[in-house]
Formats: sequence, structure tokens, C-alpha cells
Amino acid sequence: MARCGEPATSSAGGFLFCRSHFISHCNAQLDGITELFSHQRPRDQTAPLGPIWYVLCEIASTTVTLGAQTQDLTAPEKDQLLEIVLRAAELRLRKFAAASMR
Ligand SMILES: [Zn+2]
Repeated sequence: MARCGEPATSSAGGFLFCRSHFISHCNAQLDGITELFSHQRPRDQTAPLGPIWYVLCEIASTTVTLGAQTQDLTAPEKDQLLEIVLRAAELRLRKFAAASMR
């Protein structure tokens, strides 16, 4: 993703993003993982879970850090960050459910 003119506030996947691009980047990642899971039944899950696990952890921890360290978040931004954490947590639990059915 190309850097935009906004000041970078977060690191995700080795790239620096401004706040709004960080939020859209996280949602895009979560959309991709949701899509991946929706097309795979647990018993024939072939996607490597390690990288997905890593991405979900990184998204959650980076988002929590951003939320805790940023003083001037708007109400919609707080909601968006909270939603990202919840989506990452939900996908992480779904991953465990799929893995335990093997
Ligand atoms: Zn940006």
C-alpha cells in the first residue's frame, strides 16, 4: 500500500499507516481471513493457520496499543478500533474451534 500524506501512527505488517489507513488495512485483512474461513470446512482445512494466527495477534495487539496511546481519537474511530479487536477475537476463537475438530 502506498504511503499517503497523513502522519503514520501505526505499524502493521511492517508498513507504516496513518490512522484511517490502519483501520482500513486491518478491516481488509480481517475480511480476507473471514473469506478464507467461510470457504473451508474445518475437516478439510488446508490453509496454514500459523500465519493467520500471527496476523490476528498482530492486528489485535497493534489496535489495542493504538487505542490506548492515542489521546485524540474520535468516537467513530474508537468504535472502529473496538470493532477490529472484536472481529480479530472472534476469528481467533473460530480458528480454535476449527482446529479442535480435526
Ligand atoms: Zn493514510
